[in-house]
Amino acid sequence: MTKERELSLSNTPMKDTGFRFDTRYTTLPPVLYHLGEPAPARRPEVVVFNARLAEELGLRLGELSGDAQASLLSGRARAEGSVPFSQAYAGHQFGGFSILGDGRAHVLGEHLTPDGRRVDVQLKGSGPTPFSRGGDGRAALGPMLREHLISEAMAGLGIPTTRSLAVVTTGEPVLRERPLPGAILTRVAASHLRVGTFELAAAATRNAPELLPALMDYAIERHDPELREAESPALAFWEAVAKRQAALIASWMRVGFIHGVMNTDNVTISGETIDYGPCAFVDRYAKSVVFSSIDEGGRYAFGNQPWIARWNLARFAEALLPLVDEDRDRAVAKAQERFAHFEGWMNEAWADMMRDKLGLPGRDEDDIALATDLLALMEASSSDYTDTFRALSGATALPAALEGARGWGTWKARWNTRSGRGQDEAPSADARERMRRANPAVIPRNHLVEEALAAADGDDWDPFHRLLSALESPYGERDELTPFQQPPPASFAGYQTFCGT
Ligand code: AMP
Ligand code: MG
Repeated sequence: MTKERELSLSNTPMKDTGFRFDTRYTTLPPVLYHLGEPAPARRPEVVVFNARLAEELGLRLGELSGDAQASLLSGRARAEGSVPFSQAYAGHQFGGFSILGDGRAHVLGEHLTPDGRRVDVQLKGSGPTPFSRGGDGRAALGPMLREHLISEAMAGLGIPTTRSLAVVTTGEPVLRERPLPGAILTRVAASHLRVGTFELAAAATRNAPELLPALMDYAIERHDPELREAESPALAFWEAVAKRQAALIASWMRVGFIHGVMNTDNVTISGETIDYGPCAFVDRYAKSVVFSSIDEGGRYAFGNQPWIARWNLARFAEALLPLVDEDRDRAVAKAQERFAHFEGWMNEAWADMMRDKLGLPGRDEDDIALATDLLALMEASSSDYTDTFRALSGATALPAALEGARGWGTWKARWNTRSGRGQDEAPSADARERMRRANPAVIPRNHLVEEALAAADGDDWDPFHRLLSALESPYGERDELTPFQQPPPASFAGYQTFCGT
C-alpha cells in the first residue's frame, strides 16, 4: 500500500491547484539540499486552512475535495511542477557551531504569486530526511497549531513573518514524552535562506569554493536584485540583511515578542520571523524575561534580543569574508568597518519604535533615556507591557502599581514636556492615533494561547478560532477584544516554553 502511494506520488501530479512552481534553488550545487519526497501521512485531515492566504497566493485549494486538499497539504500527493527537497544549513546554536539541515521539512518548491512574488512553500513535520540526525522527522499537533496561531498573529501585527497556510493531522501518533497526534504545517516564506545557509557554504569553501558565490548570487537575485551592481555586493548584501534584522527586532520589541531561540539557523536573510518553537510574549515587563525551558543563561531574554541579533550578524559577516576580499586581513577590515554601523542602526530602529509607542514628535537625543526610564518604572512595578502602552495611548486607565511607583510623576512630566503639551493635558488626538497604531490592543497572550491549544487537543476548536480571529486586526479597541485583553491570572506564574517538539 505504501509503495503504491509512493508510486502515485511520483507519477501523478495534481493539476489545477493554482500552484505555479518555478524552483531555482535546486540549480545550486547539491551540497545545499537533498532531493527527496515527504513520507506519506497515513490518514491526513485538514484541521486548519487559511483561506485568505490561499487566495492571496492564487491557490485554488478551496475548490478541491477535503481528501485532495489533505493529500496535497500532507505531501501524499504532489502538485504539478513540485520537485520536493530538504535544505542543508549550519548554525550557531546557543553559541556553538553545528552542521544542520531540514530534519523534518520538505520545500515543495518556489511558487510565483499573482502579485509577482516568489515564495517557498514548505511542509514541516513531513518525515525524515538525511538531516534528521536521529529525529523522527515528524511534528506534534500542538506545536504546529502554535506556529499557525503565532505566525498569523505576527502577520496581523504587521511584523514580517513566515506564514501558515494549513495544519493537517497525519492520523499517526508521534512519540514525545507521551504519544501525541502528528501534524504537518504548510509554511510559506519569502525564502528559507538563513544566516546558517551561508555559514554552511563558508564552512565548505576550502573543498567547494564555488558554493558561496553561487549562494550569494541566488540570494541577491531573490532578495536584493538592485545590489548586483554594488561596489561590493557581499558587503552591500550584509548591510541590507542587517538593516532588515534591526527593523525586525525593533518590531518584536514593540509588541513584547520573545523569539526564544535566536540561533543563526533561525535568522532569515529576508528579515521574516521564522520558527515559533519556544516563543512567547512579555506580560509583566522585565528586561530579563525568558520563558524557554532550555535557555538557562537567559541568552535569548527579551531585552537581549538586539544584542543577540548583533552577535548573529557578526557570524554572518564572517561567513561572507571570502567574498569581500581575497586577502583575509583586508576582508576583515572592510567587514569590521561596515559592522560597526549596526549598533547605530539598531539603536535608531529601537528609538523610532519607542517614539511611535510614546507618540513623540520628531527626534530628540534624550528619547532613548526617556523610553528606558519608563521601562525601568514598569519593571519596578511589575506592570504589564501591553496594558501600560494601551493606557498611555488613552485606551484604559494606567496600571495602579505604575501610577504608585516612585518616580512616575517625574517621568510623566518629562513625557508631557517632550511631547510639547501642558502638564494637565492629555495626548492630542494625533499623538493618540499614532500611539494606537504602534501599541496593539490585543496580543497572543501566553495563557490564552495555551488554553486554546489545550482545548483543540480535546477537540474543542472554538477557543483556537476565536483567538485567531481576534488577532486578525489587533490595533484599535473593540468590545469583542475584552476577553482576550486580560493579563494572565496569578496561577499562571512559572510559564515555560519548549523547543523542537
Ligand atoms: P528548530 O528548533 O525547529 O529550529 O530545529 C533545529 C533543528 O532540529 C532543525 O535542523 C530541525 O530540522 C531539527 N529537528 C527538529 N525536530 C526534529 C524532528 N522531530 N525530527 C528530525 N529533525 C528535527
Ligand atoms: Mg529552525
